Amino acid sequence: MRFIPLYSGSSGNSSLVCAGDTRVLVDAGLTGKAIVSALECAGEDPAKLSAIVVTHEHIDHIKGVGVLSRKYGVPVYANEATWRAMAPIVGNIPVRSIRTFTTGQNFYIGDVDLTPFAISHDAAEPVGFRLFHKGRSVVCMTDTGVVTDACRENARAADLVLMESNHDPVMLKNGPYPYQLKRRILSEKGHLSNGDAGLTLVKLYETGVRRAILAHLSRENNTEQLAASTVRGVLAENGIAEKDFFLTVARRGGVTGIFEL
Ligand SMILES: [Zn+2]
Ligand SMILES: [Zn+2]
Repeated sequence: MRFIPLYSGSSGNSSLVCAGDTRVLVDAGLTGKAIVSALECAGEDPAKLSAIVVTHEHIDHIKGVGVLSRKYGVPVYANEATWRAMAPIVGNIPVRSIRTFTTGQNFYIGDVDLTPFAISHDAAEPVGFRLFHKGRSVVCMTDTGVVTDACRENARAADLVLMESNHDPVMLKNGPYPYQLKRRILSEKGHLSNGDAGLTLVKLYETGVRRAILAHLSRENNTEQLAASTVRGVLAENGIAEKDFFLTVARRGGVTGIFEL
């Protein structure tokens, strides 16, 4: 199984999971062209995509969904509430490409077993995903204001976690965003801070998680260095040494790397 973050951040999110002959794109939040170029950069053929799975209807997760689905005949999977919310934005998608899943119930796409689980975000019915293949798994957990026990349960002992580390609360407080937007980001249905990402990873470490990629960093209210050092600090405070936990930061503007699981 391979996990390839293609883009990450408030300007657009998309990751590719490869397992056997199956290629699952988790979100497509940039133009079709940008996603195709990142796929090619990672040595992947966009015509071979098996499916696009959608976490929620915000534009930074669905911008390229319609274009990619139409151009390459790729089926799109989302829960019903997300379909209702995104239908006007993604344009015409042929009926054969419209697939639905139920939050909390696993389903299969080719060689991959996916479990969509509820997260806490201001969208119709937002989800994270756990994707399994031959005993290995990767979890995508971004766009969540808080990480509930149920949410953590879904990431137990995963081989890799794509973990939201959206903002530094002090940068956000002193930054240029209007008050209402600051409140939204800080709310339970907003985005996760660097410190909360660290605390979540401490709890996940106890279940066996040893690798994480920090993701969905805010351009205005965070930096790669600050996210990594804050999370490293929280891990260290809790007795987790640098050598015992692989940590990296997903790139905003292109392929972060190819992670073998
Ligand atoms: Zn969102
Ligand atoms: Zn987002």
